[in-house]
Amino acid sequence: MNRSQLIEELRRIVGPAGVVADPVALMTYDADGCVMDTGEPQVVVLPASAEQVSGVVRLASRYGVPIVPRGAGTGLSGGATPIGGGIVVSTARMDRVLEIDARNGRALCQPGVINWELSQAVRPYGYQFAPDPSSQKACTVGGNIANNAGGPHCLKYGTTASHVLGVQMVLPDGSIIWTGDGNPAPVGYDLTGVITGSEGTIGLVTAAWLKLTRLPEAVRVVLALFPDIAGASASVSQVIASGFLPAALEIMDRLAIKAVNDMYRLGLPEQAGAALLIEVDGVDDGLDELLADMTTVCWRNGALDVRPARTPAEQNQVWAARKNAFGAMGRLAPTYYLVDTVVPRTRLPYTMEQVGRISQEHRLPIANVFHAGDGNLHPIILFDRRDRSQNQRALEAATAVMHVSIEQGGVISGEHGIGVEKQDYMTLLFSTEDLAAMAGLHQSFDPYDLFNPGKVFPKGRGCGELAALRRAGVAWSELKSR
Ligand SMILES: Cc1cc2nc3c(=O)[nH]c(=O)nc-3n(C[C@H](O)[C@H](O)[C@H](O)COP(=O)(O)OP(=O)(O)OC[C@H]3O[C@@H](n4cnc5c(N)ncnc54)[C@H](O)[C@@H]3O)c2cc1C
Repeated sequence: MNRSQLIEELRRIVGPAGVVADPVALMTYDADGCVMDTGEPQVVVLPASAEQVSGVVRLASRYGVPIVPRGAGTGLSGGATPIGGGIVVSTARMDRVLEIDARNGRALCQPGVINWELSQAVRPYGYQFAPDPSSQKACTVGGNIANNAGGPHCLKYGTTASHVLGVQMVLPDGSIIWTGDGNPAPVGYDLTGVITGSEGTIGLVTAAWLKLTRLPEAVRVVLALFPDIAGASASVSQVIASGFLPAALEIMDRLAIKAVNDMYRLGLPEQAGAALLIEVDGVDDGLDELLADMTTVCWRNGALDVRPARTPAEQNQVWAARKNAFGAMGRLAPTYYLVDTVVPRTRLPYTMEQVGRISQEHRLPIANVFHAGDGNLHPIILFDRRDRSQNQRALEAATAVMHVSIEQGGVISGEHGIGVEKQDYMTLLFSTEDLAAMAGLHQSFDPYDLFNPGKVFPKGRGCGELAALRRAGVAWSELKSR
């Protein structure tokens, strides 16, 4: 089927307004938020219903054209990037909250609903949608589900996976299924768990029942300032080890403070080498005492100062600085490469030391803004991508961070997913058997590799091949060396 026939057929399914075919407009969809990879889609469609998605998928399946699901394109691992072309299916027109079932603490949403807008919609009922990626004013719940997104408050409330009660999804053969009916304790295989974090490789989410979280009665926020990142990191693991569960524990290092301090008028002193943002929430009574216990840990670890954000306006100011810190990096360098790994919390001080060493060895500044309570690091490598040598050193520095994280007992992604960015690191973390089991699962949903091909699994190994590998019992390392 040639491109114009494909476009014609797609227009019949989603209507002329639902098809983007102009070459200039298509450039908008050639990458997500990760600057390292791009790809040109043949066409983009914007269906308005599950039935339209199903029609598009059936057509694509008939002609063997890849489908790349896309939410807001804020992903940072190339997950929604059409590296091999194909049809990008955007959920931008599926943006309605269909039902708020406040009595049962849940909401039914289309996938293109913006994360922040869902929380705003349920606020009058006394609820929030707890997973709050820093990109929450742009990213969609479909993208959150596909990437199992995290955020500052996931320390206490859990990542997206803890908030999905069931999804409607279109499978690669065009069939429409529900993985659960919105009840909290479904029986049978956990297909909701399978789709959460599957990065658009096994189906397209067309609706979801999401669990809502009660708004807390009271919230307290403080910034603890340290001369360096070691004291801040040590405080994080000691706070958790003492049995406290703050709502959020976020760290910004010296460079990050420099980027946000003026912009958000935080008035932080020059000598602050790290800021630890602590938020506690819950019943008002006893909250101050809880916070005092945590700040005692900070003082013990050499804090220079502990500054409370006294009013809701001050709290918003601190949070805006933290959540927009990545954007503020533009003040420090033309490009940044945001790395996403996880280490056990007790390994944070050592790992941060190693990130400093990597920065020096690769002669590139690295800022750090991260979900410290989860051990989820975000070293931000600052460089100028127009300079080839810097480009190369940025990639090498990112690889070095991943190696250190794994050596420390961590993993290669905390929340941004694998996409194309990290697919070749999968072999550092998973054995042949692990990968083959994943490939077998993928194959049972998508035998012809129609959905988001070329993502997640290490390059050059189709899932059919992985499944055959599993049967033959050939070691992954052996196959790689052939
Ligand atoms: C400034 C900034 C800050 C960020 N902070 C965080 C953070 O704190 N925590 C965090 O977790 N992430 C963060 N991210 C990364 C990103 O915002 C999240 O991964 C988010 O969940 C992606 O949502 P999206 O709608 O933009 O999805 P996209 O980028 O469009 O897609 C992401 C993946 O989901 C798949 N997908 C999208 N919609 C569907 C669907 N309906 N069905 C099936 N698959 C689908 C895509 O194919 C792709 O693989 C940040 C990004 C930026 C730019």
